[in-house]
Amino acid sequence: MPSRPRSNQSAQLTVAKTRTGLGLVATRRFRTNDTIIKLGGRVVDADILWKRGGTFADNCFRFGPETYLDPGDRLGRYLNHSCDPSAAICKESNQLFLFAARPITAGDEVTIDYSTTLGDDDIWTMRCNCGRRQCRGRIKRFGSLPAAVKQDYIERGMVPKYIIKTLGWRA
Ligand SMILES: [Zn+2]
Repeated sequence: MPSRPRSNQSAQLTVAKTRTGLGLVATRRFRTNDTIIKLGGRVVDADILWKRGGTFADNCFRFGPETYLDPGDRLGRYLNHSCDPSAAICKESNQLFLFAARPITAGDEVTIDYSTTLGDDDIWTMRCNCGRRQCRGRIKRFGSLPAAVKQDYIERGMVPKYIIKTLGWRA
């Protein structure tokens, strides 16, 4: 197995093969709400995301009303989606953090529900192959989620405020 760049390792996570390709796997245990890592990267304007599109856009995280975080080659690049996620993103002090949404043990894949970071003005969608019982088949804007799922995610702090604010903006 080829060795991976240093930036793809941390004390908390490693990049490894998962059901949906390379993903982030926990190397220790986390309790619910523990911070896992800070999501590093470069903040880019929305128009750059639209201009570049493709894999670049696929890898970016919504960062604010008009901005996205480009993880580059950092760990965030390998953060996969699940319709039954083990983690979520929160924003504090103008930075994005990945935190445990439930207890995670070493060897578990760390995933988020991408819909929790897709505003109602985000038109990006992707087919889902997560294989979970809850799988919705397609990943879409937060507002498209079933009401009970939306409420559950909001109550558990799994949806950044700038995403909640877009509810009803519908592009
Ligand atoms: Zn799914």
